Amino acid sequence: EYKKGGYKPILIGEQLGTYTVLRKLGFGHFSTVWLCSDNREDQKYVAIKVLKAVHLCDNMAKEEISLLTELRRIGSDHPGRKHIIEMVEHFDVSSINGNHVCIGFELMGPSLLHLITQSHYQGIYEGAVKCIIRQVLLGLSYLHNKCKIIHTDLKPENILIKVNDAYIKNMVDKTTRYSELGLPMPRSYISSENYATQSFETLIKFAYSNPVMSPDEPERVQRSSSFPCLSDLTNDGETTKICTRSELYVSPKIEVKIADMGNACWTTDKIEGTIQTKQYRALEVLLGADFNTPADIWSVGCIAFELATGEYLFNPRHTQTFSSNEDHILLIYELLGGIPPYIASRGRRSHRYFDSTGNLIICEMPLLHIWKTEDVLVEKYGWKRVDAIPFAAMINAMIEPDPELRITADNGLVHQWLNDSSS
Ligand code: ATP
Ligand code: MG
Ligand code: MG
Repeated sequence: EYKKGGYKPILIGEQLGTYTVLRKLGFGHFSTVWLCSDNREDQKYVAIKVLKAVHLCDNMAKEEISLLTELRRIGSDHPGRKHIIEMVEHFDVSSINGNHVCIGFELMGPSLLHLITQSHYQGIYEGAVKCIIRQVLLGLSYLHNKCKIIHTDLKPENILIKVNDAYIKNMVDKTTRYSELGLPMPRSYISSENYATQSFETLIKFAYSNPVMSPDEPERVQRSSSFPCLSDLTNDGETTKICTRSELYVSPKIEVKIADMGNACWTTDKIEGTIQTKQYRALEVLLGADFNTPADIWSVGCIAFELATGEYLFNPRHTQTFSSNEDHILLIYELLGGIPPYIASRGRRSHRYFDSTGNLIICEMPLLHIWKTEDVLVEKYGWKRVDAIPFAAMINAMIEPDPELRITADNGLVHQWLNDSSS
């Protein structure tokens, strides 16, 4: 990907505008993102997203910048605004691969994917799921209602955890220590490899320890490195050396922001074609029907389930019998216990899966295993029925097949699951 029209090759210490590159923070399909210090101000750090040089990315970058500029302009009094990542500035740089748009953002910590991997794919404490989902919905209330923007790519990687100054200092110190000692930086910190092979876990391994986690055993675990775990991110004080799973999980102060507006669009000016990352893709998008802000809510339902269980709600696979999209339709059908014919037959691609009256044609009914959300939580994940009922109700409201009937961000915020303090 480091070729003409691709990522910009970046060296540690390189100047990007008025910033100095310290290390890599992450990457996506369209960019690499770097921890940088501001040459104009001591101790000021930002994340710089350096987009690929392809023409398509240039247009995407312009769109991302115009959306981010608008976001900065509107509704500063809306409580959801602080849950959307804020652009600091933008500028262009060039490389042998072409011209790259750079977007400076407030520096954030790891994404929600980190929480999921850190839980060893067991999921996180339900109280923390509520805390995160509430903030995501607040952010979406702002995005959807105030700004008239659809994010179109909500997934754990694109929701970032806010970190405190102590955490940032630790991260910067660790990075500069490599240079001071003349040690090579971990590969995930630098720009030379094919990033696709650099898993997120590599980054985690270097930056954090893995506290043992079990809410039922509040056993204290000595962490192996001096780097902060999640409970530290939310402490304003000094870094603690010990953390327990319950601390990690309960942490009511965790704050998140929705990032990556790279695929976002105006509700009035929707992009053509397929949106969203497969596992988080709404039914209407899959069917090729009209989509709008409810498509984002579908993704939130998938994210909430994944945070709570550590596993995808829908993980469609290409098999010998079914294509990935067919499998996806069947997974949705099985979880919902059916798809209303008026919804099923609505999209441009409906005929691939349903006949004109909305009956499934890709699979014989007896072969389906109808398995409702509530039962999945109880039978597969061992939840108590009393806990599964309200959570499943929330998930089901978010993956309601009819986008018109699907719960909105504002109604989600007053849903019983979020407002029941028993967990
Ligand atoms: P995608 O493939 O999801 O479209 P992208 O190329 O549009 O990705 P982003 O999602 O904006 O790029 O950023 C890529 C990664 O960089 C994020 O998943 C995150 O790990 C990291 N990152 C982005 N912004 C920040 C930030 N402000 N602070 C810290 N890390 C960040
Ligand atoms: Mg992204
Ligand atoms: Mg993106």
